Amino acid sequence: MKQYKLLTPGPLTTTKTVKEEMLFDRCTWDSDYKEITQKIRRQLLDFAHASAEEYTVVLMQGSGTFAVESVMTTAISNEDKALIITNGAYGERIVKIADYIGLNFVQYAVEYNEYPNEASIRKLLAEDESITHIVMVHCETTTGILNPIDMISSVAQDYGKTLIIDAMSSFGGVEMNVPALGIDYLISSANKCIQGVPGFGFVIAKKEKLAACEGNARSLSLDLFDQWKEMNKDGKWRYTSPTHVVAAFSKAIDELIAEGGIASRQNRYTNNNKLLRERLAQAGFATYITEEKQSPIITSFIYPTEQFSFDSFYHFVKEKGFVIYPGKLTDADTFRIGNIGEIDEEDISDLCNIIEDYMGVRA
Ligand SMILES: *Cc1c(COP(=O)(O)O)cnc(C)c1O
Repeated sequence: MKQYKLLTPGPLTTTKTVKEEMLFDRCTWDSDYKEITQKIRRQLLDFAHASAEEYTVVLMQGSGTFAVESVMTTAISNEDKALIITNGAYGERIVKIADYIGLNFVQYAVEYNEYPNEASIRKLLAEDESITHIVMVHCETTTGILNPIDMISSVAQDYGKTLIIDAMSSFGGVEMNVPALGIDYLISSANKCIQGVPGFGFVIAKKEKLAACEGNARSLSLDLFDQWKEMNKDGKWRYTSPTHVVAAFSKAIDELIAEGGIASRQNRYTNNNKLLRERLAQAGFATYITEEKQSPIITSFIYPTEQFSFDSFYHFVKEKGFVIYPGKLTDADTFRIGNIGEIDEEDISDLCNIIEDYMGVRA
């Protein structure tokens, strides 16, 4: 098979050294392995600027959605009610999870290219005092919009609501002070901005909140409280853990630190994203999200003409070594290019040359 670099927002392009960590089969109950889990948990707290007194980290087998579902079923009891804010498919997936579990919730939906409105949210909270939790996606990977985390954080703090943030595609690539933002549960996964391979998700949780959740979960495997209690003893996971993925993730964390930490990685992503958008604008591609709302993670581009064939474009670009992503919108013809992962300026420049060739606009 011809190899290519992934410009998709997870799984993404990882380093050779991260992949090489998976060449050794580790024992799940051996102390060396359990120490890797504990190391990861400590380092994720550091990335979040959180202290071990106030916060804890729980790792959960499965893709990111499993971790989201584990938070929804564990953190929200039958007496609670969630306000789920949506402007994309990942927010809508959370609504679907809430439906499946049978949670009490209200959905506040806005257009995919718009921010949720602060006044509307405050009004909803003022009118319905039974709401206990607010749930929002940070970077909506559907479009690439970066939702206003400061706004929702201050609203949640003003009204004293528990705040759940799906920061799947942003954590590790966008600086976030989790305690300062008053986030009670932040969810992300191994194969996004930390640049590991797929296989588990993680939750950075305020201990005081999680400690009150015993017995809430309607699922055995996804019980975040039980998972925490077990893992917190000595780093042994409840049920088989994805050993290869965990080892690779530990290496990916070391490489993130070596890169200079989250701020440096955010810089690389931001510069690459700017270069991509500038060059593609010159080649005739407009973006779906306006610049001030755009994340440094992934960008939705509108088809340049009515005759544009994504299929032919995709295969042309893939043949030259890059895989991009179809769009996920119903009201506009778009495709997406992610720029997270082990991708440097030269890669983006190569990609833009390829796209200019396709469009027949190469200088
Ligand atoms: C990737 C992602 C998820 C999880 O998706 P999985 O396919 O389960 O890994 C959830 N929310 C957002 C915003 C994402 O980008």
